[in-house]
Amino acid sequence: MQPKTLERWQFSASVLLPVILALVITAAAVLGFVFWSTANIDQRALERQSSMVAQVIEARRAQVQHDLESVAIWDDAVVNAKLYFNFDWVDSNLGAWMYEFFGHNRSVIIGADGTPIYAMEGGAAAASEDLADMAASVRPIVERVRAIRPAEVAAGEVPPPAAASDFMLLDGRPAIVSAMAIVTDSGELMQSPGSEAIMVGVLFLDEAAAERLNREYLFEAGRFVLTESRDPARAVYPILSSTGRFIAFFEWDRDRPGLLMLRQTGPALVAAFIVAAILVFLLLRQLRRSSSELENGRRLAEHQAAHDKLTGLPNRVSFDTHLADTLTNGKFAGAHIALLMLDLDRFKQVNDTLGHQAGDDLIRAVGDRIRAVVGHDMMIARLGGDEFGILAVGQHGPVDVVSISTRIIDSIGQSFTLNHFKAHVGASIGIVLAEGGSAEPRELVRKADIALYEAKAGGRNRAVVYEEHMNELLQLQHTIEGELREALRRDDQLSVVFQPLVDQHSRKVIGAEALARWHHPKYGQISPARFIPIAENTGLIEALGDFVLRRACELGATAPGRTIAVNISPTQLRNPRFSHQVFDILRETGMRPLDLELEITESILLDDEHISSQNLRTFRTAGVHIALDDFGTGYSSLSYLKRYPVDRIKIDRSFVSQLAEGHVSVAITQAIVTLAHAMDIEVTAEGVETEGQAAILGKLGCNTLQGFLFSGGVVPGRIAEIFADPANAVTRRRRKSAA
Ligand code: GH3
Ligand code: MG
Repeated sequence: MQPKTLERWQFSASVLLPVILALVITAAAVLGFVFWSTANIDQRALERQSSMVAQVIEARRAQVQHDLESVAIWDDAVVNAKLYFNFDWVDSNLGAWMYEFFGHNRSVIIGADGTPIYAMEGGAAAASEDLADMAASVRPIVERVRAIRPAEVAAGEVPPPAAASDFMLLDGRPAIVSAMAIVTDSGELMQSPGSEAIMVGVLFLDEAAAERLNREYLFEAGRFVLTESRDPARAVYPILSSTGRFIAFFEWDRDRPGLLMLRQTGPALVAAFIVAAILVFLLLRQLRRSSSELENGRRLAEHQAAHDKLTGLPNRVSFDTHLADTLTNGKFAGAHIALLMLDLDRFKQVNDTLGHQAGDDLIRAVGDRIRAVVGHDMMIARLGGDEFGILAVGQHGPVDVVSISTRIIDSIGQSFTLNHFKAHVGASIGIVLAEGGSAEPRELVRKADIALYEAKAGGRNRAVVYEEHMNELLQLQHTIEGELREALRRDDQLSVVFQPLVDQHSRKVIGAEALARWHHPKYGQISPARFIPIAENTGLIEALGDFVLRRACELGATAPGRTIAVNISPTQLRNPRFSHQVFDILRETGMRPLDLELEITESILLDDEHISSQNLRTFRTAGVHIALDDFGTGYSSLSYLKRYPVDRIKIDRSFVSQLAEGHVSVAITQAIVTLAHAMDIEVTAEGVETEGQAAILGKLGCNTLQGFLFSGGVVPGRIAEIFADPANAVTRRRRKSAA
């Protein structure tokens, strides 16, 4: 998956989804609550209205009965309706009155014998042929009144009239029907119970009755109906008779305060939700932006932690991790693994001559060249400084790393153009071969380092495959290092011997070269050729050099006029404090600076180190002589001699040993001597072993000779004796022209 898509997906999963879910849940909860409370409010309102309707309808029924009372309890009514039936009186005072004054739709008066004696419908007296039908319709209520037996009442009191009222269907029309016995109001007219005329009042629950209710009690579109409406906006109240029979429904437009509230607040609520959603959207967008910035930052930091800034290649940490993964991953079990450690040769020189920036450019270019050779199948890492690591995994057979290394070395060996200058470097490669699943990463790196060390020691610009004996050699070197460290701490193992320097003309001993010796109690004499390079590589050379210099100066102080030569290592010379240390020793021992000759090797001149040349200049200014040792073995460029003037060159023993009449080395030596003399530089020949060699060197004009022909190294006491020998008497030496 692409990182961008992955990131988007992760963001959606971890942020977007929960936020949207929270938003939806909140919206649902709010809406649910709003709808629930709306429904709740509406339900309570409905219950209130229903209970009001029940009361109002009940009140209407009671009212009809009450209306009847106003005429039925009346002496005149007893007289005119029963005793002396007076139609006109009854019609105007009972029938029309009830219609006009109370709005009763129908009135019926039933005589004591149960025959109807009067009826009124809609304000007009009914025709006599309709009386029977009208009386029949109200018979049930009349019978209920007749069935009521008056309670015992005290004398002089008027008993309440027998009365009943109910909801009934008359001719299929719902109505409130009320019946009451017509009785005296004064108590003066006596009737035997059950003989009273019964007055019946009917109020139809029709449109007019509904209108009246709507008007008085503010019902919206209230109506009496026989079938229930299915409209949810309408509320219904069932009207039942006292016997529980269904009579009619009163239905009206429900008062829905909840819905009203919802209608009023709904738009505001929706707007609030939209605003909240927009805000959340903006917030999420901002969040996504910052989280993506954060993610990018994290990825960058991760990349930086695992990569080298200069080349963009993986760094040592990721190389080590990758190596460990490769070695332990079961996928590569048994696979051929090759680890290559590459270090540039004499890279410091590029830094020193062309500047650090150019050095950086070169390192980058080296990374590119390695990549061009190995392709993208192998891991390349910059391990630090001028060191690169390459990991090759051959799953189907060994990788030909030796030929790859050769191609890398050839490629790096081509010149680099930096800052419009051409620069050359070499590369040394240490190779170790292993099998996946059976090697330990740290051990592998150590072995590759040993092979690299061998490549460097073997002359650089080459690839060396690790072999087990190299490890033993290294172990031995470690042992020697430890022993040397110990030897430097005590004073019974290291010593300094002095090899005489002989004047070619007079054969007088004019000085001596101080040489370190190490006698180990267990291993015996250890050759300087073995321990000096180890001291160089481990930093012990400073202490060893200091020891030799001090012994040489102690001797020099006792033999003024004699040249005492001391070998100086590049490490010592690169130390900015080195000249101070030398002058301190000279002062402490009392030796004259102009008797001291410091021998340096050509590699120091090649190093082109600012500090080294500064030290050399300081020495020459103070009168200390500088000799160039092993001349002829290295680059032997006389141009260096112009840049760093020296007082003497020492022709290497390998040249001297070949000197024989007619040999080419004679001509070379001649050329060296002639050139050196032309530059006012003295020449010493080292390793002179035969008279023949001495004679040729004499003829070539060599100034000083040194070698077993005259003497090997001797202890300080012996050299002091040699100096004291009158045969070796010398005139006091004076400093040549300073540089
Ligand atoms: P050798 O042949 O023994 O390898 O010698 P060398 O001159 O290549 O020196 P060495 O490998 O011992 O040391 C590498 C030098 O590279 C040390 C340091 O001055 C230089 N160096 C280290 N890191 C950087 C860097 O990032 N940029 C540059 N320009 N130089 C670096
Ligand atoms: Mg290097």
